[in-house]
Amino acid sequence: MGLVAFILLLVSMLAVLSGSLPAAAGALYHGNTNTRKFHASDCRYYDCPHCTAVFSSREAAIDAGYVPCKVCNP
Ligand SMILES: [Zn+2]
Repeated sequence: MGLVAFILLLVSMLAVLSGSLPAAAGALYHGNTNTRKFHASDCRYYDCPHCTAVFSSREAAIDAGYVPCKVCNP
């Protein structure tokens, strides 16, 4: 009984941890200063020549006037 509760707690903790890791790592977004679009780190345009603007969140990119890329849809 106690052990089952402990395992359930452990599993739920792991689920929370794995779900929050990407956000906790602070995934960055790159903004293209030419097209004013921003890209997620897994996008093939993430390191494009004009993608010199760096944002710590998509809100920051949007606040700066950038729009989400249609390829990576950040
Ligand atoms: Zn993109």
